[in-house]
Amino acid sequence: MPKKNNHLAALNLQAISTWNPLLKDKPLIISGPCSAETEKQLLDTALALKKIDRVKVIRAGIWKPRTSPNSFEGVGNIGLQWLNTAKKETGLLTTVEVTTPEDIEACLQNEVDILWIGARSSSNPVYIRKLADALKGIDIPVLIKNPIHPDIDLWIGTLERFNKVGVSKLAVVHRGFFPFEKTALRNIPKWEIPLELKRRFPNLPIICDPSHIAGNVDSIFEIAQKALYLGMDGLMIESHIDPKSALSDAKQQMSPQQLSLLLDSLTYSHFVFESNLKHDKLEVFREQLDSIDQQMIELLSQRMEIVEQIGEYKKKNNLTIFQLRRWQKTINLNTKIGRKMGLSREFLVKLVSLIHMESILRQNDVMNRED
Ligand code: PEP
Ligand code: MN
Repeated sequence: MPKKNNHLAALNLQAISTWNPLLKDKPLIISGPCSAETEKQLLDTALALKKIDRVKVIRAGIWKPRTSPNSFEGVGNIGLQWLNTAKKETGLLTTVEVTTPEDIEACLQNEVDILWIGARSSSNPVYIRKLADALKGIDIPVLIKNPIHPDIDLWIGTLERFNKVGVSKLAVVHRGFFPFEKTALRNIPKWEIPLELKRRFPNLPIICDPSHIAGNVDSIFEIAQKALYLGMDGLMIESHIDPKSALSDAKQQMSPQQLSLLLDSLTYSHFVFESNLKHDKLEVFREQLDSIDQQMIELLSQRMEIVEQIGEYKKKNNLTIFQLRRWQKTINLNTKIGRKMGLSREFLVKLVSLIHMESILRQNDVMNRED
């Protein structure tokens, strides 16, 4: 992560507690369906959420940016009218993902309280410029999800573009990063990135979205608890009155009852850093190291799975485990890359040799295994 000046400190930011009297309690809890599907689904979900004290904002996707054009892409503008009815019936605030200047216009007309920028949009500065231009002079709160890939400067750039046109009620949403390899979670949290953001910009509110990090209901508690433990300012959790029937993200949506239990089971008082970040700098650095270490271990375990498959292949084809040319290539390539990244040759040789030795032992096991 390249170090940058703390230029956001010079920008104009307001704390969440000043956005609206309803939002003074920390952590801010936002919940609601991935997508608005029908008026009844949205209203039933909102009425059930209203009974959970901690929930202050209803979320709903209206225009869904989906990977495949054959997936459900949202109900469009009619959903804003349903959401406005839900707002009036419950007294909760509302938030919607906007993807175009026209979406922003429609949200403003339908009294949406908070806009959010999705991960796919915040990855694209061209869209962001257009969205920011549409908000010139309108100081509505905007939540900015992290870009799909772990580029902290792109995330900050998105924030700056909105701030420059006069949006001061800004917060970011950490929803994890696209995993290039298969992992247990839908998106890799890479906690070191939101922590680095918090370290550079202590006044920037960070909300965690454990639903999109987890991808399944079972892992949400652990991620939400970790986010609170790290001092995040809020949680955005997807909920649906009947999750099984959801038209998008069915596996990760909780029923309002499940959400209520989850919110009751979380510990809220164990923040690593509250307002005075200075004293907890060491903790922040340590959390960043832990997160990076966990990713290294996960990658090593993935490497060993491939090593086993290579072992099977060599066994079937009567090849030797140790192949000198391949070994030399591995050492040379990795030392070259590592040297460019500031690691010493001695360390790289030791590290690559250790990994290689473990790989040989694993393949040896495969060779000796009875079929
Ligand atoms: C969502 O919140 O439903 C959503 C589409 O999220 P993301 O932009 O994080 O993928
Ligand atoms: Mn979703």
